[in-house]
Amino acid sequence: MEAFKGTIHTKLPETGSSIFAIMSQLTAENNAVNLSQGFPDFPVSEELIERVHHYMKEGMNQYAPMPGVKPLREAISHMFNDKYGVTYDADTEINITAGATQALYAAISTFIKEGDEAIIFEPAYDCYAPAVTLNGGLVKYSRLQFPDFSINWDELPRMITHRTRLIIINSPQNPTGSVLSREDMERLERITRDTDIIVLSDEVYEHLIFDGLTHQSACLFPELAQRTLVIGSFGKTFHATGWKTGFVLAPEKLMTEFRKVHQFVVFASNTPVQYAIADFIGNKENYLHLGTFYQAKRDLFAEGLKDSRFKVLPAHGTYFQLLDYSAISNETEMDFARLLVEKHKIAAIPIAPFYQNHDDHKVLRFCFAKKEETLIKATKILSGI
Ligand code: PMP
Ligand code: GLN
Repeated sequence: MEAFKGTIHTKLPETGSSIFAIMSQLTAENNAVNLSQGFPDFPVSEELIERVHHYMKEGMNQYAPMPGVKPLREAISHMFNDKYGVTYDADTEINITAGATQALYAAISTFIKEGDEAIIFEPAYDCYAPAVTLNGGLVKYSRLQFPDFSINWDELPRMITHRTRLIIINSPQNPTGSVLSREDMERLERITRDTDIIVLSDEVYEHLIFDGLTHQSACLFPELAQRTLVIGSFGKTFHATGWKTGFVLAPEKLMTEFRKVHQFVVFASNTPVQYAIADFIGNKENYLHLGTFYQAKRDLFAEGLKDSRFKVLPAHGTYFQLLDYSAISNETEMDFARLLVEKHKIAAIPIAPFYQNHDDHKVLRFCFAKKEETLIKATKILSGI
């Protein structure tokens, strides 16, 4: 193909390949144990696969309705009512999306226009800021406080201006594994009171919470909930990241606006998967024990590292564990991650790319959503470094 000879007026001048794509490629080239990109290496439930198959054979293979199939919206409404005691109307307050990434993009596009500001806590999951930029908005970063990655509540009110349209929160948090408490959510509720600020609450790891903590969904705080879009992902919950099925919950006024954009971003998402998940979440047993399931994996990974030179940082949620390697090396996170994958054949994700200024704390993120044998293999390699 001949090269394009014109000038491209790029909308994302500082953006290259995502760190997930880079590390996935390095993992494949080096045939490394892969604890980098976050996805499980164990299978999806047979029952759930059978349900997808069933609906495909039943002929549920054409476009779903724009908001998502009704049985799934109803099942999500029941799940939230049961888990949090809060009611979202299946017709007017729930929308199915092609994963959380699409939900986040459509939500940010709905509310950010030229000159608006969005506040993001960093290190931040990588898809928030580009979506703000693409819509002409300005990102204001608030650093989570190292090493517990808590929000700096004194700083936040000073960052809010008359242009602040969005605050994006994420708990349990990727990449750090930190979790927001009830007090955190109450502070956010107070700070945003009597403003027009919309909150995007990325709760894709809502079930992956440990150590007796409970997930403080934004929906639990009535004043906060009325300005919030809650975002979820079945990829995380049902070990099926490749199915790209997620959802948005929001009061009707926000949802009406969200749907105006969503319909032109994707219109609808995968039909048979939606019907299958609707059946599957009808049984609470299919998601209630995820915290215990993943906590055992986190503990196995940490236990396997107790004689290593890596320091295990607290991880109260998600399926990510941060390891501090400062006792081993002074190299940058990117260089050390490269050394691990090329020399030691184990892949992790550096945290620096999740900071605007590439802050380097000498920590790497390891995904422990893996079979026992993978985790044991990984801890053996890491313990020898
Ligand atoms: N938000 C966070 C915090 C995530 O970690 C991820 C994916 N790991 C997403 C959103 C995107 O979810 P999905 O795969 O459903 O698009
Ligand atoms: N959410 C996944 C992670 O944090 C990555 C998804 C992606 O590759 N964009 O590892």
